[in-house]
Amino acid sequence: MKHFPIFLSVEDRKIAVSGGGDAALAKLRLLLKTEANIVVYAKDALPEIKSWAKSGQLELVERVFEPNDAIHAVLVYAANDDENADQAVTDIARAAGVLVNHVDNLGNSDFITPAIVDRDPVTIAIGTEGAAPVLARAIKADLEERLPRALGTMARVGKLFRKFAEALPMGRARRAFWSEYYFQAGPQALDRNGEDGLGDALGALYTKHLGKTAEPGHVTFVGAGPGDPELLTVKARKALHEADVVIHDRLITPEILELARREALIVDAGKEGFGPSTPQEDIDAMLVKHAADGHHVVRLKSGDATVFGRLDEEIEACIDSEVAYSVIPGITSASAAVASIGQSLTRRGRNSSVRLITGHDVKGYAEQDWRSLAATGEVAAIYMGKKSARFLQGRLMMHGASAQTPVTIVENVSRPDQRIVASQLSHLPEDLADAEMNGPALILYGLAPRDAVAITQSLEEIVL
Ligand code: SAH
Repeated sequence: MKHFPIFLSVEDRKIAVSGGGDAALAKLRLLLKTEANIVVYAKDALPEIKSWAKSGQLELVERVFEPNDAIHAVLVYAANDDENADQAVTDIARAAGVLVNHVDNLGNSDFITPAIVDRDPVTIAIGTEGAAPVLARAIKADLEERLPRALGTMARVGKLFRKFAEALPMGRARRAFWSEYYFQAGPQALDRNGEDGLGDALGALYTKHLGKTAEPGHVTFVGAGPGDPELLTVKARKALHEADVVIHDRLITPEILELARREALIVDAGKEGFGPSTPQEDIDAMLVKHAADGHHVVRLKSGDATVFGRLDEEIEACIDSEVAYSVIPGITSASAAVASIGQSLTRRGRNSSVRLITGHDVKGYAEQDWRSLAATGEVAAIYMGKKSARFLQGRLMMHGASAQTPVTIVENVSRPDQRIVASQLSHLPEDLADAEMNGPALILYGLAPRDAVAITQSLEEIVL
């Protein structure tokens, strides 16, 4: 991020604009929405600018910008449609220590003006650091359509009520009140009685919420899917949005954590495959403690929480402490991995069952029913299998599996750095070693990428 977005306080402060032509006009249309004192310096201003001056919306000084003009300004716009004149204004502003925007010259500007969606006091600023103005406009158009015009009115009336709302307990109770106002009671009242109805609606809602007793805390176990935030379920998104505390695994991507509320407490309870880890008892205790404090705790696990997720231990900890819990299923990495290679986990005439197995368990390498797995056409999704590739290969071949059995490894499934390695049983350990994988990887035993998928992947991605 080369530009940091902030909301600048400009009420009753000076914003100086040098220029009276089209560039200045475009900026002034935006600036006039603010409560700043706008002063335009232009020898020859367009009629529209003159009429704004006449009606007192801005001050027009009919001469060129001079060194003293930047003093006490919070912002300066160099908008003369003339490179030399704009450079002179920029120099003056810099000398006075005032932030300057040299219009249409990103490199010479201290700040840039974003595309704005205006539902005052709700303001959305969209910027692309100059990379894609078309994109910024498209996002703006999309938001303009989606956000009700009345949003600003609701927020303005809501703001007047904030002091009263402080009588509600901080945290979930107060959030529930505001959420009901903005998404139910507010829009309904506006529809029925217009802006005048909002005050009454807030009053009634406030009385209702004051009378509520605090809800007890609870734990929601949420499967976050393999990493792509779009593979979260709608329920998972909602739970994340509402959580007071989020306790997550190492494999949860930052993009997903971004979806939690900014005020939520986020705890990394990461367990490295073979490295340091948070002891399970500590995680259990943490879940119970936060829920007992009355919080909504989201326990975020990669993929589906019910697959190699030690979910039962955590559920039992909740039950033992009489903490309410629920489970939101997620997309397990095996499902996402087969999707990436265009295959099915089961197929008529090939395999009528599929196994989800782990490469190692608490005792070390995990033993399986190798004899059945070794039969032609069998399919298994192997979790945590990278380090046990040679063991798996040895066991399977010892029980008669064909050396040519296809095996596909998918690393970082569903993430931008996803990698597919097509191998076969006889080369599995070598191919895995050559691929030097650092991310989580799922081994699909008995499956090769479907040809069409192999062709659409870039060739380097597929190591044969
Ligand atoms: N509950 C998870 C599995 C947890 S065990 C699920 O349902 O997917 C951790 C193992 O899952 C990793 O060692 C790896 O084998 C697999 N895994 C999890 N996320 C993955 C991803 N994005 N890409 C590939 N494998 C993944």
